[in-house]
Amino acid sequence: MQKTAEKKKQVSGIEVAKTIGNWIGGKEIAASSGATFDKRSPHDGSLLFSVARSTVADVNAAVDAAVKAQSAWAAMPAVQRGLVLHHVCNALEARQKELATIVASETGKSPKEAFGEAGGAIALGRFFAGEGQRLYGRTTTSGAPDKYAMTVRQPCGVAGLIIAANTPIANTAWKVFPALICGNSAVLKAAEDTPGTSWLFAKIAHEAGLPPGVLNVIQGYGTECGAPLVEDARIDVVSFTGSTKVGKWVGEACGKTLKKMSLELGGKNPLIVTDDADLDEAAKWVCLSAFSNAGQRCAAGSRIIVFDKVYDAFRDRLVVAAKALKVGPTDNDDFGPVINERQLNAMLAAIEQATKEGARLLIGGQRLTDSERAQGFYLAPTLLENVDAVADISRHELFGPIACLYRVRNYDEALALANDSPYGLTACIHTTSVDRGFDFAHKVRSGVAVINAGTFGSEPHMPFGGLGQSGNGSREPGTEALDVYSELKDIYIQVRPKKL
Ligand code: NAD
Repeated sequence: MQKTAEKKKQVSGIEVAKTIGNWIGGKEIAASSGATFDKRSPHDGSLLFSVARSTVADVNAAVDAAVKAQSAWAAMPAVQRGLVLHHVCNALEARQKELATIVASETGKSPKEAFGEAGGAIALGRFFAGEGQRLYGRTTTSGAPDKYAMTVRQPCGVAGLIIAANTPIANTAWKVFPALICGNSAVLKAAEDTPGTSWLFAKIAHEAGLPPGVLNVIQGYGTECGAPLVEDARIDVVSFTGSTKVGKWVGEACGKTLKKMSLELGGKNPLIVTDDADLDEAAKWVCLSAFSNAGQRCAAGSRIIVFDKVYDAFRDRLVVAAKALKVGPTDNDDFGPVINERQLNAMLAAIEQATKEGARLLIGGQRLTDSERAQGFYLAPTLLENVDAVADISRHELFGPIACLYRVRNYDEALALANDSPYGLTACIHTTSVDRGFDFAHKVRSGVAVINAGTFGSEPHMPFGGLGQSGNGSREPGTEALDVYSELKDIYIQVRPKKL
């Protein structure tokens, strides 16, 4: 295999390899075919990197390295593995600004937001590094005399990790830290839209003392190197974050060999505004839920369900708040571009289709083409009303800064509409009534329920995941992620008093 080009270039002040390679066995390596693809800036379409375009041969090499490294890593006491991961977290923290710069360049989000995302990834890393001192099993009773029963956690083996690009450093950390603390080695398939972030993470981890081969990163397209990773017989557990469509394929492929898997998929999340809500607060939270990160969040609020009694007053406030949002890549902007032109075009087509079917565009709906943003992949914040609950735009995730308003008569109708979705990831209600808030939290079909804030994901120490088309029932992160990345073993000990 050839080494990647030595030539370096600057991206937003960081010196990176002009070609971003795979990270295999502690070394940066080009794709065995020598092929590359272009990674462009979502802000202005300029070329950021050439990226290794991996195929099955590269996946084989990465899995070879992971298999070779796994037993020594697993043999290291979990407390020691935790110490290594603490060193990795310290190194990530020391280079947080650099990480944030690469995240911002690749995604188009603001440096401040990217810095915050990197901080969240480090917090998650520290949580799992600390798990090295716990990794609790159970000790329990036995039905037989002088017999003792316990469970211990053991690694699965080699983890195949596949991630989406929306929050690249968080997504990388979300999978890598729990996989490694449990004693697995890992092959991470980076998102093709954010190759540099996973590459830099692996490089920093390596320099901080993570043994070669424990974490390997493969660059490339899903069908060309993601699929072979899922299908590799030496992969013991697959954790996938991405679309429901690809997740279903991953589920089928894993099902064929009964491979353990965790699927973290899409959402079409409801946010209810009741007639006793603080409407200004609700408008603020709807803007954050629908538009932050350009709506590229599985947890984004895209179905805004409003009581008839306050519908007009709320809509007017929301339109004013959304019109005031600034779209661009700086810290003074509210959100940036979407990740690539293909996704932008799919969003524009969905909006056009909805309006043809009778939806009324309140604001947005178009690409931003002023001189500062014309070369980038910018969509104006978009709000629609008069949308049918069974229309495509109500049922399918768009993963962009687009939300629809629905008018309902009362709480029962609002709850029924919230639950009328193939997905079930996050949900939120704005109300000053404790009764409504708690009733909603219990009855809404979702993995996360929020009262009086936004549709957001979970904190690093809390489990996240969804129902229906949002996943397969697994939960990551939190201690629940340990169930994904470890196998439980029962151990029984029979004490023989006669032998004493
Ligand atoms: P995607 O499914 O197209 O791609 C996700 C990843 O899967 C990428 O790395 C891609 O290369 C890879 N992939 C594609 N085809 C593959 C195949 N056949 N085999 C193996 N890997 C393959 O998703 P996307 O559009 O990049 O990401 C957005 C989606 O991710 C949205 O649906 C969003 O809701 C979801 N998401 C979910 C969560 C969560 O925690 N539930 C978090 C973030 C994003």
